[in-house]
Amino acid sequence: MSFLVTQYRVENFIYKRINQIYKDLTLLESASFSKESITTDMATLTKQIDQYAKDKKLEIETLKVREEYRKEFMGNVSHELKTPLFTVQGYLETLLDGAMEDPNVADKYLKRATKGVERLVYIVDDLDMITKLEVGDLRLDVKNFDIVALVEGVFDLLEMKASKKKITLTFDTDYNEPILVKGDQERIQQVLTNLVVNSIKYGREKGTTEISIERLIKNKVIVRVTDNGEGIETKYIPRLFERFFRVDKSGSRKVGGSGLGLAIVKHIIEAHDEKIYVESEINIGSEFSFTLEKAE
Ligand code: ADP
Repeated sequence: MSFLVTQYRVENFIYKRINQIYKDLTLLESASFSKESITTDMATLTKQIDQYAKDKKLEIETLKVREEYRKEFMGNVSHELKTPLFTVQGYLETLLDGAMEDPNVADKYLKRATKGVERLVYIVDDLDMITKLEVGDLRLDVKNFDIVALVEGVFDLLEMKASKKKITLTFDTDYNEPILVKGDQERIQQVLTNLVVNSIKYGREKGTTEISIERLIKNKVIVRVTDNGEGIETKYIPRLFERFFRVDKSGSRKVGGSGLGLAIVKHIIEAHDEKIYVESEINIGSEFSFTLEKAE
C-alpha cells in the first residue's frame, strides 16, 4: 500500500515538474503529453527540448550574422559617403577662404565640388535601389519585350562613355528579328546598363564589349556581356556580387563606382527567378551572363 502511495506521489511530482517545463517553453505547448505514460513522455520531452534548443541556436546564429551584416553595411555606407562629402567640403572651404577671387580657380573648384555632389547622388541612388531590393519592396512589372531593342537602347545611351576609351559596343552577330522575353523591362535595362558600364570601366582602351543573346533551352535565353578588359582574379570571383565589394579599392576609386552595381544586378536577376554567371580571366577579359524567360 505504502509502495503504491509513494509511487503515485513520485509520479505526480514528476508530472507536475515536467508539465511546468512544457509551460515555460511555450513553443512546446502543442506537444502531446499525457499523465499516463510518464516514462515514454520523458523521451518525447528530451527529444523536443533538444530540437527546441537546436532551433533556437540556429535562430540566434542567424540574428548574429544579420547584426554583423547590418553593422558592416552602416560602416560601409558612411565610409562611402565620407570621401565625396569631404571633397565637396574641401573645395567649398577653399573657395570661401579666398579662392573665389580668382575666376579660373573658382571655376575649377566649383566643377570639382559638383563632381563630388554628383558622386554622392549616384551612391545614394544605388543605396536606395539596393535597400528597396533587399526589403523586397520592389515589385516587378513583368511584360513581354524585345531584348534586342533593349540592348540597342543601352548601347546608344552608353556610346559616349565608351567612345572616351575608344571601346566598341557591339552584338556578336546581326539580330534582324526581335527576340521577345518576359521580365521587368526597366530593371533588365538597369542590369544591362550596369554590366556594360563595368565592361567600359574595367575594359582596356580600344577594347570591345560584345553582347550575345542565345537560346538556352526551350523557354530560356541567355544574354552574355563579354569584354576583353582587365579581367578578375579567380579568388575574387565568389565575392563580386557582395555589396560594396571592389577588387582594387584604390584603383576602382579612380573610375568611380559604389561597389553596389553587381549587387543590384544579382538582386534584379534573382527577383526574376533567373540566374547570373561570371567567367573571367585576369588580363584576358570577363563575361557576365544571365538567363531570361522567353515569351511565347
Ligand atoms: P563598382 O561600382 O566598383 O564598379 P560593381 O559591383 O559594379 O562595383 O563591381 C564590383 C567589382 O567587380 C569592381 O570594383 C571591379 O573590380 C569588378 N568588376 C566588375 N565588372 C568587371 C569587369 N567587366 N571586368 C573586370 N572587373 C570587373
